Amino acid sequence: MIGFIGLGVMGRPMAEHLITAGHKVALYRVKPASQFLVDKGGIALDNARAVAEASDIVILMLPDTPDVEDVLFGADGVAEGLSAGKLVIDMSSISPMATRTFAERLKQKGVGYLDAPVSGGEMGAKNAALTIMVGGEQTDFERALPLLEIMGKSITHIGGVGDGQTAKVANQIIVGLTIEAVAEALLFARRAGADVAKVREALMGGFAASRILEVHGQRMIDETFDPGFRIRLHRKDLSLAADAAKALNLALPNTAMTQQLMNAALAIGLGDKDHSALIAALDHLSAPGK
Ligand code: NAD
Repeated sequence: MIGFIGLGVMGRPMAEHLITAGHKVALYRVKPASQFLVDKGGIALDNARAVAEASDIVILMLPDTPDVEDVLFGADGVAEGLSAGKLVIDMSSISPMATRTFAERLKQKGVGYLDAPVSGGEMGAKNAALTIMVGGEQTDFERALPLLEIMGKSITHIGGVGDGQTAKVANQIIVGLTIEAVAEALLFARRAGADVAKVREALMGGFAASRILEVHGQRMIDETFDPGFRIRLHRKDLSLAADAAKALNLALPNTAMTQQLMNAALAIGLGDKDHSALIAALDHLSAPGK
């Protein structure tokens, strides 16, 4: 039996692929939006402990570090139901430093731990085409690989525990700063009076072309900011970068600045909009007549 905890935007399609592939999957927390997984053969259980008792491998897909800590070590949590030889795979995007602590605590019980955060968004999850960045021991990686291959396409064993999360933070730095750059460029073009759609089209043929100019640039032009990936979650990822940078005495000035702009986006009510809505925060900063 495989356990799956965290049935949100990403977790639902990921758990669905495991069920469709023929695995018995224990689920928590099933809500109306995830009831279809039970209809397809998933087994709804009452708490995380029950999932861990029933499963050999427990997968987590939760929002943030405190959620993972609570599900693992809180009352009726995963740790209470684990025994030696089991494996936890945390696919959430959380702190690399906390990840190492969680893995160490579980190792004392004889339980293996992989961090395996993903990139590719809701579409990647739905199409089983996620990029998965894995940290942990080789034997645990080999044990998990057949399951990861059901959910993802590009799977890389980066290194030891925490290194998968480090790779994901690096990914989020590039994506966040590129969205900020595209937002500044398109806002500039619009305020300077150019046809922004034509500007994007022209730039897509040159050196400034990128997947983010293509996808998020189009969303900025259309002003369609339904998530996608919520600014609130991206701000969390840049906070993880800031925490790690502090621990390393490392300056990441543009990461810090983009995080501040995300604070501004939340302040004007955009926290649950797609991260391409960063352009609206920039627009607000230079609102004409203010
Ligand atoms: P989400 O908020 O849609 O889903 C999280 C789920 O966890 C929710 O269903 C919530 O009910 C559940 N949950 C929270 N606390 C719980 C608990 N104590 N017990 C059981 N369930 C609990 O978030 P998401 O978009 O699915 O993202 C999940 C993770 O994946 C995040 O770390 C995010 O940064 C990362 N991620 C998201 C995307 C994306 O495009 N949405 C892309 C890559 C990575």
